[in-house]
Amino acid sequence: MKSILDLFHRISNELLTDEKEHPVAPHIPSTELYNTLDLSLKSGPLDEVAFEKVVRELAFASTRTATPGFFNQLYGGRNEKAVLGELLSVILNNSMYTYKAAGAQVGVEKVILKEVCDTIGWLNNSGGTFAAGGSMTNFMSMLMARDAAGQKARHQGMQDKMIVYTSKESHYSIPKNAAFCGIGRDNVRYIPTDLEGKIELSGLENMIKQDIAEGGLPMMINLTAGTTVLGAFDPVRAVNEICKKYKIWMHVDGAYCGSVLFSKKHKHLIDGIELVDSFSFNAHKMLGTPLSCSIIVVKNKKHLLESFSNDASYLYQTDSDGFNLGQTSLQCGRRNDALKFWTLWKSVGTDGLEKIVDHLFALADTATEYVRNNEDYTLYSYDETIAVCFNYKGIPARDICTLLYEHSELMVGYGSFKGDEFIRLTTINGQNEHQDILNFFSTLEQFVEEHAYLFEQQLAEQELAV
Ligand SMILES: *Cc1c(COP(=O)(O)O)cnc(C)c1O
Repeated sequence: MKSILDLFHRISNELLTDEKEHPVAPHIPSTELYNTLDLSLKSGPLDEVAFEKVVRELAFASTRTATPGFFNQLYGGRNEKAVLGELLSVILNNSMYTYKAAGAQVGVEKVILKEVCDTIGWLNNSGGTFAAGGSMTNFMSMLMARDAAGQKARHQGMQDKMIVYTSKESHYSIPKNAAFCGIGRDNVRYIPTDLEGKIELSGLENMIKQDIAEGGLPMMINLTAGTTVLGAFDPVRAVNEICKKYKIWMHVDGAYCGSVLFSKKHKHLIDGIELVDSFSFNAHKMLGTPLSCSIIVVKNKKHLLESFSNDASYLYQTDSDGFNLGQTSLQCGRRNDALKFWTLWKSVGTDGLEKIVDHLFALADTATEYVRNNEDYTLYSYDETIAVCFNYKGIPARDICTLLYEHSELMVGYGSFKGDEFIRLTTINGQNEHQDILNFFSTLEQFVEEHAYLFEQQLAEQELAV
């Protein structure tokens, strides 16, 4: 094992050094991948030297997500304290279903969940768990909502025409999960959004009334804290009124920006969060832990037990249910996603988490200001978001993003909202400084200037196609 740890150390140190010089990995077109790297699997073993060489090549060729050149996804960066926890969890290889198999790590997970519930302001009967990702925590919320609406579905299969409400701007896992839950994609209602991408309340109650009149059972409203494109926050408190009136489960999908919970300055964006039935967030997004670190908490933990517990005498042999976390999880064997969050939280404190969140918004302010003050840019996003959306000199956003990627300059994506397509810069990497954001713009501008012919070519091709 020691020599492998040394190898790991060598490769990661070299990678860190190389990332400083090359924040974006050399672009390998997918059609060239297997010609560029020897990924093939053979019947015989590889000698140590050849093995090291190919593993290093692979690591060096992979997309770099921790550098100031990566703005493409809703995660980024490499928090060192969190990385330590992740590496330890790999070495320890505990499975979180029982106290017997995970020991003290169960305590780590329980402490985090308790602290999150306390921060929301929930009492002792609240609870939570970790799942493999935000799509999965959303899935768990929908299953609990379904079972809370009636226990029949669990045993006899779906008997009612259950209806789920979510915004047009919400995550695609909502309709997908509706299919998994037996609710059906056609029974997802999309609430229109206002100009800033938040749900419009006005029509919601009428939608619900109409569904009831047609024999439907309104069962869940999903709100988003940080929509995928604009980073908008749906109004929690106002929607809760409707949920109470019609006895509808309320979930807040905070995968992207739910961590505003930790910020005094920004938690007003989820004002009323203590009123919801379930709330999920990804610590691997705003807080910068390695993938994945997805948490769901529920106001009343009986719902977790009702939907996810199972008798399994081969598994649950010692200790009380409260320490056998498999009773409240979707999976059986489950990796330890809690430790990386704990090493981060333990080292920087809750105040440190707050600083990370506030820093991301401050970085976004820097980007927004830059775009506002430069007439070559058009701004599409709003204040208090970490997704800054814009166009540059009227050039199609997808052309800029694709060419920047293919030339290994910058990783950034584009999005669209109400018919406009634009570049979406997410300031999700807490290790970035304000200068990194300004460098993003100067790299983009310089690239466009030096490659004007490419953009003209692209435009000509598109006109030909039309
Ligand atoms: C990222 C995201 C998800 C999905 O989370 P994964 O961990 O990628 O599965 C769900 N909802 C929102 C709003 C997100 O931003």
